[in-house]
Amino acid sequence: MLFLVSGPHGYITGGVAQREPHQKAGHVNIDLSGKVALVTGGSRGIGKSVGMRLAGAGAKVAVVDVADCEQIQATAAELGGGAIAINANVVDADQVAAAVAEVEEALGPIDILVNNAGITRDGLLIRMSEADWRAVLDVNLTGVFMMTKAVARGMMKRRSGRVVNIASIVGITGNAGQANYSASKAGVIGFTKTVAKELSSRGVLVNAVAPGFIDTDMTKALPESAREALLKLVPLGRLGLPDDVAAAVLFLSSELSSYMTGQVVVVDGGMVM
Ligand code: NAP
Repeated sequence: MLFLVSGPHGYITGGVAQREPHQKAGHVNIDLSGKVALVTGGSRGIGKSVGMRLAGAGAKVAVVDVADCEQIQATAAELGGGAIAINANVVDADQVAAAVAEVEEALGPIDILVNNAGITRDGLLIRMSEADWRAVLDVNLTGVFMMTKAVARGMMKRRSGRVVNIASIVGITGNAGQANYSASKAGVIGFTKTVAKELSSRGVLVNAVAPGFIDTDMTKALPESAREALLKLVPLGRLGLPDDVAAAVLFLSSELSSYMTGQVVVVDGGMVM
């Protein structure tokens, strides 16, 4: 399919984006005015870019993060459009319930949930502690379950809603040194497909985005040699930008994807194909 979209990112033709990485996120003919979006882990990295994309399309965004309050508030202020900041840990049931209630009171019923919060605690299996295993499974998988469950009932009642879960290509391929992380992300993919099946009859669409190697604080922690080796595996020849992932999330949050559910959209510069 050939499509032509004009916007601040230039023209997208035939699926190949020609744009400058430094350009700011903005409006690409997708209108989310009146929609309320909750983005977990939204104060920096991919989550922040997702918030910018959604706010840029007119959504009212709640930035939910465990980071310090000043950081979350600064991001919410940067997003504008009435974005609000909420400090909550996605693994804590009481904090999740309180966050959802706060968003609904301040902005209205949640239309779009982006489960983005995630952590790594890398190490080879034989050296991986039980604490590191549990911490990663808790945030990356149980956190997705907790948040989705907390918003699903309302979406089902309203017979509409979008859930976008941020997985990873390592949930598809595996990755030495990331048994905990890849298991959590494979779990997110299974969870996405199951919940998509459970909620489809209620008009709630559930999809995942699986990023490859994206330039954020999470990957800056890697040694330079590992970054260079990874880069050689990317056919498009560059690291992904947070906004590359955010663009896919925007699409999955919009009317443009209304015939998609239970899918995993890979955004990895061609690493896995
Ligand atoms: P990041 O820069 O480390 O940001 C993660 C955000 O999540 C931070 O703001 C962090 O808060 C927050 N967070 C962590 N634990 C949380 C919790 N329990 N409750 C609420 N918020 C929490 O990570 P990123 O690179 O943007 O990654 C975002 C998502 O993309 C993650 O799910 C990650 O697994 C996935 N992903 C990333 C890549 C990549 O190459 N970067 C590739 C594939 C998938 P603090 O500021 O307090 O830490």
